[in-house]
Amino acid sequence: MSQVHEEFIHINAGPFGQWLTQAQAALRGHAGLQVPCGDCVGCCTSHYSILLRPEDIALDLVPAAVLSSVAGKPYPYAKMNPRADGTCPMFTAGLCSIYAQRPQTCLDYDCRVFAAAGLDAGEDKPVINRRIRAWQFTYATEADRIAHQSIQAAARFIQQHVDAFPSNWAPRVPAGVAVLALKVHHLFMAANQATMTVADRINAVMSASKDFDQSNTL
Ligand code: SF4
Repeated sequence: MSQVHEEFIHINAGPFGQWLTQAQAALRGHAGLQVPCGDCVGCCTSHYSILLRPEDIALDLVPAAVLSSVAGKPYPYAKMNPRADGTCPMFTAGLCSIYAQRPQTCLDYDCRVFAAAGLDAGEDKPVINRRIRAWQFTYATEADRIAHQSIQAAARFIQQHVDAFPSNWAPRVPAGVAVLALKVHHLFMAANQATMTVADRINAVMSASKDFDQSNTL
């Protein structure tokens, strides 16, 4: 019964245009997002390794035994590894035991990005996938609806042509695809779709992604 019921649960994800502006700002390292998680603990139970940064107070709270090094980032960057059952080692009795000091990675996590891109989070993340399917954005303008459609078109293109990008450039995991789609979605507006070849579009995606990342420093 719960499975059938879950298919019809809707949770308000907020106005899409406002969310997109905030999500892109967060990707640029600016304002954080306030995610209406409610009682969902999907990201705490879904096999994620959590990046800890030098400024995270949680670094002093997490047992060293559950930490490992991060490729390309020197200590005190560290990765907090999940338990065998996929739960975070700081998840106890159904709650985060360091909630007030949880890492920035946890504060930044917003599974609405998957709903925006029309993707699931992955086969090993059923709790998050249920939440993704429940999110419902609202649209203040037709332009917001078109922007949402263009993000989904971008995600489909990236997935369909992942092997046509230069080796290892395009992300394969859903989170990476969704984030890239957010950065380059303007290329997939109907008006920009016209006559581009796949090769031209791939070059445009790579260029637009670079432009987005460089705008971080503005
Ligand atoms: S640190 Fe807390 S909020 Fe972050 S994944 Fe672990 S239990 Fe969840």
